[in-house]
Amino acid sequence: MNLAIAEDHVVTLHYRLTLDDGSIADESFGGEPLVYLHGHNNIVPGLEKQLAGKVQGDNCEVTVAPGEGYGEYDPTLDQTAPRSAFPPDAQLAVGMAFQARGPRGQPVTLWIRSIKGDDVVVTPNHPLAGQALNFKVEIVEVRAATADEKKHGHVHGPGGHHH
Ligand code: ZN
Repeated sequence: MNLAIAEDHVVTLHYRLTLDDGSIADESFGGEPLVYLHGHNNIVPGLEKQLAGKVQGDNCEVTVAPGEGYGEYDPTLDQTAPRSAFPPDAQLAVGMAFQARGPRGQPVTLWIRSIKGDDVVVTPNHPLAGQALNFKVEIVEVRAATADEKKHGHVHGPGGHHH
């Protein structure tokens, strides 16, 4: 039986993510494959949409526009903070993520976008926001999700949650 990828299926795949400048942003080939539950917003929406209907053994190239990837880059959200706003022993680096508190006390992930002297530019924009995402994908396995996996919205067992 060759299951086609659809909602509530557990998909195991290998991928390589290349940006338009040719750089490889991320890849699983040569390491552990990605395992996710389809239809539960566990991967970027544009990729999930285009994987529907694929079966085990399929190889495909998928291009995802920023709006269906990590979002458009919104420069109005960038903020400049002085170096002194960070713990003195923190090793700051461009691309580093950290948790901050939003206006209502909620946790917000911020990334360091640039460092110039004492000025540290931080942003809630994902580092891949504004980028087209070019995925090379190999479908390793497709199986039906268990009742518990559907209830939780994520995969259990190898490559998934253990609890
Ligand atoms: Zn669970």
